[in-house]
Amino acid sequence: MTPGGHLRASPLKTVTMRATAVATSLAVLVASWPAAAQTRAKGPPLLRDTETEQLLRDYTRPILRAAGLEKQNIQVAIINDGTFNAFVADGRRIFVNYGALRQSETPNQIIGVLAHETGHLAGGHLSKMRQQLAQAQTQMIVAMLLGLGAAVAGARSGAGSAGAAAISAPQAAIMRSLLSYQRQQEENADKAAVKFLNATGQSAKGMYETFKRFADQGLFSTRGADPYMQSHPMAVERVRALEELARSSPYWDKKDDPALQHRHDMMRAKVSGFMERAETVYRRYPISDNSLPARYARAIAAYRHGDPRTAIAQIDALIKTEPSNPYFHELKGQALLEGGKPAEALAPLRKAVQLSHNAPLIEMLLGQALVGTDNKAYAEEAIKILRAALAREPEAALGYTQLAMAYGRRGNLAEADLASAQAAYLRGDAKTARDLASRAKTRFAIGSPGWVRADDIVNTKPVKN
Ligand SMILES: [Zn+2]
Repeated sequence: MTPGGHLRASPLKTVTMRATAVATSLAVLVASWPAAAQTRAKGPPLLRDTETEQLLRDYTRPILRAAGLEKQNIQVAIINDGTFNAFVADGRRIFVNYGALRQSETPNQIIGVLAHETGHLAGGHLSKMRQQLAQAQTQMIVAMLLGLGAAVAGARSGAGSAGAAAISAPQAAIMRSLLSYQRQQEENADKAAVKFLNATGQSAKGMYETFKRFADQGLFSTRGADPYMQSHPMAVERVRALEELARSSPYWDKKDDPALQHRHDMMRAKVSGFMERAETVYRRYPISDNSLPARYARAIAAYRHGDPRTAIAQIDALIKTEPSNPYFHELKGQALLEGGKPAEALAPLRKAVQLSHNAPLIEMLLGQALVGTDNKAYAEEAIKILRAALAREPEAALGYTQLAMAYGRRGNLAEADLASAQAAYLRGDAKTARDLASRAKTRFAIGSPGWVRADDIVNTKPVKN
């Protein structure tokens, strides 16, 4: 996890904004779709981390296969939000808050949630909901026009209040029909999820436990919703139906594989260490707890909260326990890099790149350390590594920022401007992107590949939100 960081907050701004635009229109009426994504603007919207993403891929892959969606290249994106939420917004990604990852005690609990969201994707619920909304909007307008007509007629006849009633009654009915439609979709997603879990030999108990917890808290499906929803016992009914379905599975009592549970515990420890306040981390993982996850969480908290020397000692102890764990070496490199020691960060980051089989986000961190050394001799290597990483993670603005610096060191101002333009574009700063790309064009030979790419950025229309 990093600055702008590993749990690296990602600059996937344009993409996220687009997802949010759709989400916003739905969120008005649909409580279980994301309200959190666009309202919590603290920090970058998405978190990036190789270890966590790899685990989520391993959780999701069998479910997507069971749903017949394995060819769709569906990704799980982690949202920088400590509350529990998961949703689909654009048909190609499942969004999950880091809060949901941290709060899920077993792989099975979060896999159940991912299976439910996959149920929405497989059922095409987003596009169907959009159609329902469009239809409802038309109905609302018609209802309003009719109401208006009634109001005018009412005013003429002297029966003043009849008009107002005529406006609100049909709207309430339309709202209720939308909500009932959404309820149906939730039930369908539950059923699909249990089917996917059964097909992959997994229990739906975790999913049931999660939804039950929300039903008990009175939060699930009711948060931020219409009072009608809050008074409606939908959640309880839904959870009861889900329990019956889940218990009928032969896998109900099946436990997660211990190795997977361990990876899950490490992931939760990491999320806590990076995202939570020090005192919270130490409350969850007290010094008396000598387990690997607890040591991991405390080492991260030590480095995050400005205790570099102890942090490095703690990370070294982790490395001693598991020398071939790439993420321990990554953490050490990151701690050294952010502690202002890029040259010392090189060895652990090279090791992490090697052990992770060239994970692009870790390569970007190595590229950043190489650039950070201010040593011209490393510029060429940095360019090579960053380009290779960006080929696989083309939306990582941080990679382009580092690439621009590396080119700058080499005195290649044309490529430096182009890379800076790409970084600005990915950050959603279209004006800076165009200005830099225009300048890059004057530095490249007309018609050369660099000139063409710069020209593309100059001519790209900003994404409308
Ligand atoms: Zn749902």
